[in-house]
Amino acid sequence: MSERACREEFPVAFKTLGCKVNRVESEDIASDLLGRGCMLVPENEALVVIINSCTVTGEADRKARKAVRHALNGARAPIVVVTGCLATMDPQGLRDLSERVVVEADKERVADIVSSVLDLHATHHGHAVGMGEGFRTRTMLKIEDGCDNFCTYCIIPYARGVPRSVPLDQLIDRAKRLVEAGVAEIVLTGINIGRYRDGGHTLPDVVRRIAATGIRRLRLSSVEPPDVNGELLAALAETPCAVPHLHIPLQSGSDSVLAAMGRTYSAAEFEILVGRARKAVPGLVITTDVIAGFPGETWCDAVETIAMCERIGFSKMHVFRYSERPGTPAATMLRSVAPGERAVRAQALRMLGQSMRERFLRSLLGAERTVLVESVAGSTAIGTTGDYVRVEVEDVTNIAEGDLVVVRVTGREGEVAQGVFVGLA
Ligand code: SF4
Repeated sequence: MSERACREEFPVAFKTLGCKVNRVESEDIASDLLGRGCMLVPENEALVVIINSCTVTGEADRKARKAVRHALNGARAPIVVVTGCLATMDPQGLRDLSERVVVEADKERVADIVSSVLDLHATHHGHAVGMGEGFRTRTMLKIEDGCDNFCTYCIIPYARGVPRSVPLDQLIDRAKRLVEAGVAEIVLTGINIGRYRDGGHTLPDVVRRIAATGIRRLRLSSVEPPDVNGELLAALAETPCAVPHLHIPLQSGSDSVLAAMGRTYSAAEFEILVGRARKAVPGLVITTDVIAGFPGETWCDAVETIAMCERIGFSKMHVFRYSERPGTPAATMLRSVAPGERAVRAQALRMLGQSMRERFLRSLLGAERTVLVESVAGSTAIGTTGDYVRVEVEDVTNIAEGDLVVVRVTGREGEVAQGVFVGLA
């Protein structure tokens, strides 16, 4: 979702509570969003309100909840994205306030979340005018919640508890209803979808059974490395509607850092699984997450990570500067990396990520891709490829939202590719 840019017609507002750190972080998020084309507006005019909360005292909790309720009453019925300390400590309590509350404790992810929320919001509103019945091109289907991996930097297992899966029959029913409503793409989401269990059924069964509902496109959100196994790869390979894209979080290319993070694979194992995955699923595109400056990470470790990422060639890399989460084992680990140093390493990884992204986008020139059309304006259609590149297709006729079309990529402007219509998929 993260590459989906905000556009100028997407107004956002901020409400920052608590300490100076929160203020600085809100400014960081705001500048990221402005860079993506968002506008800052008064709270009452926003489509998304970001609340950076605090939980230092009971009074702070109360104020944060009041701010959420106030924002929910905005004139444009905004989505309220809550981050900050209360989002970490009481996400469910916040979610219970309204269906329009989205909780994201990780501030580095907030801009991405806002981008994707705005996109969904826009699609929803667009269709409300154009197609009625709340049709949406792409919809998330949550298949599980919770995680018990206990990576040492992550608060989620404490905040959300052990994995709980939605029974497969219920998922199939929901998917069928979505297909009937005209949804073209389902994204299987959850906290750790590889932990999906319903009796003997696991994620590959979900992929096969949901594909059989007739959905035109099926996408997986992040899958942890140990869950990218032969069975999942086989399910993806034999499911034509499954997109050839996997997001597999690497986090570090150094074995000692991976061990300290509580990750259960080595760098070599990760590389082997990438090779296997590429062999099993032709044209597979892989994206990843990496953390820079984890406690104990030496320059050598950082260089190993960079070299490994370069060898693998991710089509997109989300880089996170390590930051301590109170309540996690890593927050009290010795040998912490100085904040400035974390930033330097994160910057080096981001630069590599950008050059890999460039290479990937350049490789699309002249290639044919299947594009799911998300909007049509005049004779121009806009949609995304299976490997998640936004494409503008000129001079189309008789094309509607939700169509899958084959496009030849002829050019590019930044992150957006241009293409010509070849035929219906
Ligand atoms: S697998 Fe993901 S959600 Fe689970 S503990 Fe690790 S980082 Fe957190």
